[in-house]
Amino acid sequence: MSFALHGLAISQGIAIGRAHLISHATLEVFHYLIPHRQIDAELARFDAAIAEIQNELAALKHTASEEGAPAELSAFVDLHALLLADPLLSVVPRDRIRERRCNAEWALVQQMEELVSQFEQIEDPYLRERKADVIQVVERVVKALLGRRGGMPHKRPSGDDVIVVAHDLSPADTLQFKGQRIAAFVTDLGGATSHTAIVARSLGIPAIVGMVRARELLRDDDILIVDGSRGVLLVDPDPVVIEEYRLRRTQLELERNQLKRLRAAPCKSLDGESVCLEANIETPGDAIVAHDAAADGIGLFRTEFLFMNRDTLPSEDEQFESYLSVINTMKGRPVTIRTLDVGADKTLRQIERSELNPALGLRAIRYCLAEPQLFLTQLRAILRAANHGWVRILLPMLAHTHEITQSLAMIARARDQLRKRGERVPDRVEVGGMVEIPAAVLALGPFLKHLDFLSIGTNDLIQYTLAIDRSDEAVSALYDPLHPAVLRLIAQAVQTARRAGVTVSLCGEMAGEPTFARLLLGIGLRRLSMHPRQLLEIKREVLHADIGALTPRVARLLRLDEPARIRSDLRRINALG
Ligand code: PEP
Ligand code: MG
Repeated sequence: MSFALHGLAISQGIAIGRAHLISHATLEVFHYLIPHRQIDAELARFDAAIAEIQNELAALKHTASEEGAPAELSAFVDLHALLLADPLLSVVPRDRIRERRCNAEWALVQQMEELVSQFEQIEDPYLRERKADVIQVVERVVKALLGRRGGMPHKRPSGDDVIVVAHDLSPADTLQFKGQRIAAFVTDLGGATSHTAIVARSLGIPAIVGMVRARELLRDDDILIVDGSRGVLLVDPDPVVIEEYRLRRTQLELERNQLKRLRAAPCKSLDGESVCLEANIETPGDAIVAHDAAADGIGLFRTEFLFMNRDTLPSEDEQFESYLSVINTMKGRPVTIRTLDVGADKTLRQIERSELNPALGLRAIRYCLAEPQLFLTQLRAILRAANHGWVRILLPMLAHTHEITQSLAMIARARDQLRKRGERVPDRVEVGGMVEIPAAVLALGPFLKHLDFLSIGTNDLIQYTLAIDRSDEAVSALYDPLHPAVLRLIAQAVQTARRAGVTVSLCGEMAGEPTFARLLLGIGLRRLSMHPRQLLEIKREVLHADIGALTPRVARLLRLDEPARIRSDLRRINALG
């Protein structure tokens, strides 16, 4: 039966492929007693499922190493194979089948529940976390028992593309998809500017989040069309519809190729204003995409992604190598390295903390100042990298002037430590701050005395202005970049910075949204940092904009209080020739 589901479009493009369901939910299986005469057959069924998954994991490890998948992926496969080989999973459930006559699925899930409750008692956070691996491996075996296809996403033997369907994915899960061939993904949960969505965009594949009940309604191997531009998922569509979408996919590719011609064009508006377009990246590999899109620099390197999907913190040398690789890729263009913005939805395995309100807790600069050794290690790595190119340091989530002065003192300390080690360090590295909290906009004056530049992080600025959790799809309809309060805060930050002669840029997702480009130029921004795949589209908007003509219109729009009027005015501004 064909049907359509609607969610939040977070990454453009069209994908056609087969569903691969990723289950993180606790397993619900039928419970029944088997007759005595069937016990041997049930044991054989159980053994066959275990063997099937063992073979699947071995094959997966083989393909992963052949295809150069990330090292973490192999480690993850190894761990699952090890767990499965443990008698607690492969033998104890057999006793339950033989002695208590439980069906195989029930016996296995009972054993899993017992193990999970034991894991929960463990003090060591790393070992406690391993309960998730036990659940995942058991889910695989249960799928095999039920005759449903399991395994990691792979290109289907039929050659069909794989579309991952999950209840939720953390930014760390999403990061693991880099380097794997996945055509698109769809999740039940998530907001448009959640960090999961941001990493998804960096994969360059279509994606939809907030697709409530997708996992419940879809089955493995269903044929799907993901329209990532409109947030629509078509399930088991008619062959005529598939053909239509194939055509649209080809058209989109053509448009993308046309945009590539803008690479070499100088980024100047119709009336000759130069606009600097930089890129946001999460991993050193993303810098290649930024360089290919002719980014003027890296406006935001979200370094926290170097700390994810691993059990130990990256050393100073390892961080230095990552920063150096971005500097080398960018060949003389500036690289803005944001210090660790951990917390809220960006959790690290190494830091096990439970907070009541993670978005309002010990996040970003607050965390770094509370963990001076971790902060100093990162600062030393950045300062060493600054010997090799143009580096700027960016401090996230500032609310208080003392957070800046303390960070500057830490930078001075890191510099001293390096000098004592006999290392070369540049005398001066520009230090900027992220404007992400309304308090920072309203009391920006003192910040400007200490900072060389500002970067407005609208993803968080909107979250904190409107009191909307950016990763919660239940309130995503209220997450409104065009709310008059948000627009006025952006405009106020730009004006205050310009009056003080401090460079200001905007690096939230708004910067990469073509329909906001004229609005932001009219507000006075001349520096935008965005996902590199958006860069040429925004360049096209700049080339077609007459900034002189649209500035007074944007000033009038900023005085409006009615969201509907703001939207209709913006449509008119965007329709100007
Ligand atoms: C922002 O908040 O707008 C921003 C760019 O930072 P992040 O999305 O990493 O929180
Ligand atoms: Mg932010």
